Amino acid sequence: MTVMLGLEPLQVGLMFWTGGDLGVEAPPAEIATSVSSLGVSCGQLGVHGECPLDDATANRWKAVLDEHGLTVVTVVMCFSGEDYASIPICAQTVGYVPPSTRHEREIRTYAVSDFARTLGVPGLAAHIGFVPADPLDAEYAAMVALMRRICDHCQTNGQTFAMETGQESPQEMLDFIAAVNRPNLRVNFDPANMVLYGSGAPLEALDALRDHVLTVHCKDGTWPEVAGEWGRETPLGDGDVGMDQFVAKLREIGYTGPLTIEREIVGEEQRADIRRAIDLLTALRG
Ligand code: MG
Repeated sequence: MTVMLGLEPLQVGLMFWTGGDLGVEAPPAEIATSVSSLGVSCGQLGVHGECPLDDATANRWKAVLDEHGLTVVTVVMCFSGEDYASIPICAQTVGYVPPSTRHEREIRTYAVSDFARTLGVPGLAAHIGFVPADPLDAEYAAMVALMRRICDHCQTNGQTFAMETGQESPQEMLDFIAAVNRPNLRVNFDPANMVLYGSGAPLEALDALRDHVLTVHCKDGTWPEVAGEWGRETPLGDGDVGMDQFVAKLREIGYTGPLTIEREIVGEEQRADIRRAIDLLTALRG
């Protein structure tokens, strides 16, 4: 695995958003200032579903990222209409799986890919949705065909496309990646999602997916108390992932990309948790 974009191996980074439900409603300059004031210089930029993708917006983002020396390794997408209220609602609304929004989200993805190209970002990532477990399901073939088109569009922009983990078991993800059969289809491994969705033990999952992992989220959480319901996201180090073992496992598999902190709450509590997470990961990476 090569070191990404001139970053240090295991450089601590941050997942931050253009605005919307998962972040602050603020102009790019304010968001970039807020991120760099935490002391990080790399991360993943989340583009919410309502974010304009015109050239002026892209150029504004490029200017503020350059100004703050922030290296973005991935543009992460979410889509208008996605709802994470419960796992069943998530399955009905998230990613490319819901047929009623599949086409518009495919078109939006191409626009986000082009937006990321303007920013000079070499990869996209998203929750693609709950891919059917049965490869004989007609929707499975539709998802394979869709992911091939998306990967091929990303390829024309010199980009990877990383599937976020959590909504499938590791084996289902491996089978899907093999079915799509595109070299630029990769994985953004989020260990907390494996726990929160109850999709599999995170370290074993990381081992299974090791050849496909491009980037990771450093997020934590506790297992669901009731099967089929969400677990609970926690500050990094307080959940069931085991951050020391996670970082040790990343080293073992030869991962050299950034450690991108993701904390899916907002406000001052989020900033306090991020500061603690930076300290924890800085200590663990040594
Ligand atoms: Mg994540």
